[in-house]
Amino acid sequence: MIPAPLKDKLNNCKTLPSLPAVVVKVIELARQPNSGSRELAELLSQDPSLSAKILAAANSAFYGGQELKGLQQAINRIGMEGALSLSLSFGLAMNKNIASNGMDLDYFWKRSLISGLAVRELHKITELKFDVESVYLAAVLQDIGMLALNELDPDIYGVIFHSARSHRQLTSFEEREYASNHAVIGAWLGKSWGLPDKYTDLLFASHQLPKEIPAENTNLRVLALSGLLADPWLSSNKEMSMTLAFQAGQDYLNLDEHRFSHLLLRLQDQLPNIARLFDIKAPNNIDTFNLLQDAKHLLVERNLRMMQKMAQQQNEIEQLKKSSARLQEQLKRDPLTGIYNRQHTEQELHSYFQTVANSASSLAVVFIDLDYFKTLNDQHGHSVGDSALKAFASALEQELGNDCVAGRYGGEEFVALMPGHTQESALEFARRLQEYLASTPLLSHNREDIYISASMGIAVHAPHTKNSEQLFSDPDALLDAADKAMYSAKRTGRNQILLFCSEGRHTNLEG
Ligand code: GH3
Ligand code: MG
Ligand code: MG
Repeated sequence: MIPAPLKDKLNNCKTLPSLPAVVVKVIELARQPNSGSRELAELLSQDPSLSAKILAAANSAFYGGQELKGLQQAINRIGMEGALSLSLSFGLAMNKNIASNGMDLDYFWKRSLISGLAVRELHKITELKFDVESVYLAAVLQDIGMLALNELDPDIYGVIFHSARSHRQLTSFEEREYASNHAVIGAWLGKSWGLPDKYTDLLFASHQLPKEIPAENTNLRVLALSGLLADPWLSSNKEMSMTLAFQAGQDYLNLDEHRFSHLLLRLQDQLPNIARLFDIKAPNNIDTFNLLQDAKHLLVERNLRMMQKMAQQQNEIEQLKKSSARLQEQLKRDPLTGIYNRQHTEQELHSYFQTVANSASSLAVVFIDLDYFKTLNDQHGHSVGDSALKAFASALEQELGNDCVAGRYGGEEFVALMPGHTQESALEFARRLQEYLASTPLLSHNREDIYISASMGIAVHAPHTKNSEQLFSDPDALLDAADKAMYSAKRTGRNQILLFCSEGRHTNLEG
């Protein structure tokens, strides 16, 4: 996660944030399973100023309660973990004389202070179950990697720091410049101090977006919110920071407006005292009430915009669905006549054939070829030929009825698929069509009525009849049979209807 050259530089840097010797020993002690508060008190008393601070913190709003006089009592109140996290945060605060070219160090200390306090306050005013001491420590240390980067590369890091408009943007600028970020480097630094994994793991994950954190990981959710809660005090765009914090509090920790504003007020109240405890300049007060109102307005507007955008996208999806359905339908159609084209007719033939195979039904196929069509074109012109094809296609569909399918198979060749029909009923249809063509001109041109006749061949697949004349191995064989019968009808003088017969003596059933 940290590229090797960057890690080398970190290892060789002499001015990285460090901890006083006694705090390093506190960490060591905390790692030992059987260490007790007496040993810890002994250790801490080697550093009177640290001890005094821990005692003051144990008596502060951090913990509260009756005033305590001694360090041992203080440790009993705050627990071993509390003592560790306080020692570390005081130890960290002793780095304040770190060189100050590059980034704005004030920002770092204030963010650490506010987010740490936010963790403690969240613990007090909500029922959220989380490991308050570990999360507090991780909140205080979450940006420590920034100090390290700033020591390593003050000029460039200064530019990055000052050009980022939000903490999140800062992280992405770091990624671009160093192929790493201050959360990862902070975790590395914590490890180098000997911090147990449970803290360095939190540091490592500290900058995840709240929405990336599983609902059951309250430790990380509180930690993520702690940084966002500090930003309204620090960012130049306070409204936006407040909006992000408010929304995250609502969405990820179920903090309603009432509790959120209560939290802000408590933070604001306590910041000066806690800042004093850590020798940090207190952040300026913010107008929590009005900022929260602005945040609510921004959220409402943003939600409205999002809803409008979604409605628009929904609309576009509907349009796309419609046009894709239109295109799909067009793919099936012959552009001149509008009836099914050859490819789709064959698909329909295959699926009807399949259905018949599993039932006591039948499928009749009528192959139709218009007679002397070339002559019509030659006499009247191609466009009259086109109109005749269109007129024929609609006559065909009309005579066929709804439960059958008409398709254009080639130039002046058509196919009728008649599911559920027998030889007799298919023949009946063919005769009706023949009579229609004989009695009704397809069109007139130059005041001349134009009649066209057709030659038709019929084949029927009816596997349940056990009649070998009506039994086909596959749909292509069935169609081929109808085509053969049609061809016979052509040879025997055109304008004929013949039924397929396997011996080649196709018949019209009339003898
Ligand atoms: P037959 O009675 O033996 O079927 O004679 P025919 O002239 O109908 O058959 P042939 O296969 O010799 O000629 C078919 C003609 O159909 C030739 C071709 O120009 C015409 N044709 C095919 N497609 C179209 C079309 O889309 N529009 C027009 N106007 N004519 C077409
Ligand atoms: Mg032909
Ligand atoms: Mg023809």
